[in-house]
Amino acid sequence: MSIFQTVKTPCPMCDAEVSFELVHSVNADRRPDLRAAILDRSFQRQACPGCGHSFRMAPEFSYLDVGRKHFIAVYPGDKLAQWGDYERRAQASFAKAYGPGSGAEKLGAQMQTRCVFGWGALNEKLLAADAGIDDRTLELAKIAVMRSLDAMTLGADREFRCVGTTASEFVVGWLRTSTEELEGELAIARSLLADVEADAEAWAELRGQVVGPMFVDYQRAMMAPVAS
Ligand SMILES: [Zn+2]
Repeated sequence: MSIFQTVKTPCPMCDAEVSFELVHSVNADRRPDLRAAILDRSFQRQACPGCGHSFRMAPEFSYLDVGRKHFIAVYPGDKLAQWGDYERRAQASFAKAYGPGSGAEKLGAQMQTRCVFGWGALNEKLLAADAGIDDRTLELAKIAVMRSLDAMTLGADREFRCVGTTASEFVVGWLRTSTEELEGELAIARSLLADVEADAEAWAELRGQVVGPMFVDYQRAMMAPVAS
């Protein structure tokens, strides 16, 4: 079931109180329109009736798509530093709904479980799945691309995300987490993904750092989690 709750939130532009339909959970099987809105970046975006400013809420909800075998716990981008705590929280909520004794254990065993931080990371997971790209391999390939760039532009409020795919390429770019602004993009041949998979031994150590129980992201290898 997709669940929304009306909350009052101040408009970030004029501070007027706005009634916002805040999402708690998305069931993409029953509401494919919500999945489409996530992909076109209109989901959880609303205009202030006072000044007309359109703004988007930071995401915090569970995303379920049984057809595509996706369970994704979505957290705000600014919680990334505490990924350890949030990953454990995501594991606990999945176990409660689909773990032993839940009555849905069989279904749960088939699901790919992930937790993500921010809209860009959620979009990336959906895009990769649609394109038949293994997200674990994608994260390693992104590291390979970052290493090949002259300037490493890591830092707070910047994330390196896949933002599109074609039959032969995947497109990556630097996103501003706060504004979702894309700063330059690169089209990379999909053969890089096959190269990473073929050279499993060389990537094994990094794979272990990037792939966790639910948080599968290059950022996992780059920052030790802090307590929330
Ligand atoms: Zn306003």
